Amino acid sequence: MRKYVIMGVQGSGKGTQSELLCDDLGLVHISVGDIFRWHVKKHTKLGAQVRRIMNAGELVGDDLVESVVRERLDQHDWNYGFVIDGFPRNDRQAEFFMESYDIDGVIHLELPEDEVRRRVLSRRLCPNCGMDYNLIADRPKEAGSCDICGHQLITREDDTPEALEARLHDYNEKTRPVLALFRRKEYVHDIDARPPAEEVQASIREALHLPPYKAAPTY
Ligand code: AMP
Repeated sequence: MRKYVIMGVQGSGKGTQSELLCDDLGLVHISVGDIFRWHVKKHTKLGAQVRRIMNAGELVGDDLVESVVRERLDQHDWNYGFVIDGFPRNDRQAEFFMESYDIDGVIHLELPEDEVRRRVLSRRLCPNCGMDYNLIADRPKEAGSCDICGHQLITREDDTPEALEARLHDYNEKTRPVLALFRRKEYVHDIDARPPAEEVQASIREALHLPPYKAAPTY
């Protein structure tokens, strides 16, 4: 059983790296942001509670976040372990998490802020199938439409310059101290997030002493 936390500023590739890590190791990727986005898209009560906060790039209240995380982990569909992404984001969430779960490692993706701005503001998303694109590194074949399903691409509602600045501010003020806390427990592996995704994945696996990435067979 492997339990990892993945941390890093917005746009550092947490989602992509989590997916690659989970793919062939049978781990479950748990993204708190994706859970909230699902609720917003489906117009649930929870979605209505978090939508404005998310669009402004602010953090959702701890009680709500903790209940969402507890409920998700209580599903126990993670026999081989999980990679949790977007959580914990402040000291209180970190304490809640460490009280209930032991952690095998924290992956910290490092990316300079000017690169964060460049990446985040060029991010595009397919609202239909969820595929991510980037107008710099990972462009769709036909401008503005999804390679997989052809749907028109959109910008995430919280990928505006104002919301990004708010998120960067929160990251520096509230999330960096969590990293310091984990560092004292010697959980943290610092990984340079600037190279292409496969290289970043290789560095993560080396740091965690895991076998190299092997794409899971598609039957
Ligand atoms: P992300 O996709 O991780 O950037 O999350 C998108 C948004 O969901 C964030 O900007 C917050 O509004 C909210 N969110 C996700 N995870 C957390 C968390 N651990 N604590 C508070 N808010 C969160």
